[in-house]
Amino acid sequence: MNARLKVWVLLLGLLAGAAAAQAATRCADVLPWQRVAAGVWSWSPAAEAEISHANAGHVVPTTVVLHGGDALLIDPGPSHAHGQRVRRSLACRFGAQVRWIVNTHAHAENVLGNSAFADRVAAGSAQILASAATRAGMAQRCPACLASLTDKAGADAMAGTRIVLPTRTLAEGDVLRVGPYRLEVQRIEQGHTDGDLVLWDAKRRLLWAGGLVYGQRVPELAQGSVDGWLAALDRLAALQPRVVVGNTVSRAAAQSDLPPALSATQRYLNDLRSAVLQAMDQGLQASDAAGVDLPAYSAWVGHAERQGFNAQRAWRELEPQWMDKMDPPAPPAASPPRGGASGPAKLVPPHPGTTPSAPETR
Ligand SMILES: [Zn+2]
Repeated sequence: MNARLKVWVLLLGLLAGAAAAQAATRCADVLPWQRVAAGVWSWSPAAEAEISHANAGHVVPTTVVLHGGDALLIDPGPSHAHGQRVRRSLACRFGAQVRWIVNTHAHAENVLGNSAFADRVAAGSAQILASAATRAGMAQRCPACLASLTDKAGADAMAGTRIVLPTRTLAEGDVLRVGPYRLEVQRIEQGHTDGDLVLWDAKRRLLWAGGLVYGQRVPELAQGSVDGWLAALDRLAALQPRVVVGNTVSRAAAQSDLPPALSATQRYLNDLRSAVLQAMDQGLQASDAAGVDLPAYSAWVGHAERQGFNAQRAWRELEPQWMDKMDPPAPPAASPPRGGASGPAKLVPPHPGTTPSAPETR
């Protein structure tokens, strides 16, 4: 190689380096994607927290399943800006376009990121998938939940966010395929909300549980059912997942273990149920429900904000069952149906002097 050629090679090398640096600059908004499994990445919040200006509403993980330039995005986050960051990052880092978006349930912090994909949805190049109940819940509640999230996360964080509803509903037995990956739609649960979507990658034992699984944060029972939720968690546990993606990403420590977040959520809801029934046994009234505390969970995020409300919500759900147990046996023909979708009530000894009433809900 003569001297002139060497100079050209050197120059070309420098130019290539500059181009790479420029590409890196374009990806300067480097999102901290964490690998969950082959082809599965998660962008989790920096810490478990309540929604605030500081976290701009990013309190649940956004996950993606990738193959061959196609992306299936699960819970695109709280805002247009969040969704835009995800979209740019997937294109820049993975060379992928979002083809499908899954909304696991109708909570603002999970679904309002749909906004960033409105153009692709309108062009028919992306679909938004959810349970029918979630779609209906979004249509009904998202105007209010957008306003509420804007109040908590700040107008700047929510700028440009508009409500984009799911374009296709999913039901139990549907299968989502991304290249070699196969995600089965499980039973639509009524635990955290009235339309919780659960996706199951059986081959790799990966479970997407939406709001049904929390980490060290007090679960949100506002639109949920404590018995429905516990029954759902029993079904999720029976799948023996290795990794569960819910409000956190949780991985089983050993083959025979459950992901710790799943067990922790079960424990909290069982303790809440027991504490409320015990308060009824002790003769407390519904107006006392907000005082039913669970000190063992006082270090969990959201305890101060949510524990009292969860106890009120559980009281309202459990009181009819508790009263039912107090009633004298009725003739079989006149017996009302027992258990139902929420399962059998826990047996508690009768206690005199308690009258049924329903606490206020927000
Ligand atoms: Zn939720």
